[in-house]
Amino acid sequence: MSDTPTVLEQKPASSQWYLIGITKGLVITFSHLIKNIFNKKQMMTINYPEEKYDYSSRFKGNHILTVKKDGAIRCTACMLCATNCPAECIKITASEHPNPEVEKYPISYEIDMLRCVFCGYCEEACPVDAIRLGPEWQTPGLNGADFTYDIKHLAYRANLKGGVQSVVDDKERLKAGI
Ligand code: SF4
Ligand code: SF4
Repeated sequence: MSDTPTVLEQKPASSQWYLIGITKGLVITFSHLIKNIFNKKQMMTINYPEEKYDYSSRFKGNHILTVKKDGAIRCTACMLCATNCPAECIKITASEHPNPEVEKYPISYEIDMLRCVFCGYCEEACPVDAIRLGPEWQTPGLNGADFTYDIKHLAYRANLKGGVQSVVDDKERLKAGI
């Protein structure tokens, strides 16, 4: 082993001044600012919430309970979605249906959106196309209760304009054996 002592590189004192780095950073920031002001179309950002990003129609957002042609909820309260939900955020209360041909229907259906991970397993599990994850993704709320979506909100909130009708009608479904 050599006995030569290690010589530490002596950096110039100016390299320890932060002012130069800060000035360089500000020059970059302002050059982007000026460029963006005059080339708004090429800006990478949008002015949310005035402008909104268009997601793909396949985007899986807030849930929708679909309705039949007569406007009744399609859900048969089979509980498959709740059983399949990894976040355990679906709560359903079933009741006997007044129509003897129908076994049961949900008198209450709730999803705790703060627990939901938007995995889509509920949609996959449903045998009758009664629950879908729609393209809506904004979930504003002022308190925890605003994030518990009840049956009315899930099926008939204003922007669904009377509900999303399932494309598979009961008669068509039975004919197709599904
Ligand atoms: S999307 Fe996933 S986490 Fe959310 S309710 Fe459906 S199954 Fe549960
Ligand atoms: S939404 Fe579908 S899976 Fe869930 S309880 Fe209703 S019918 Fe069953």
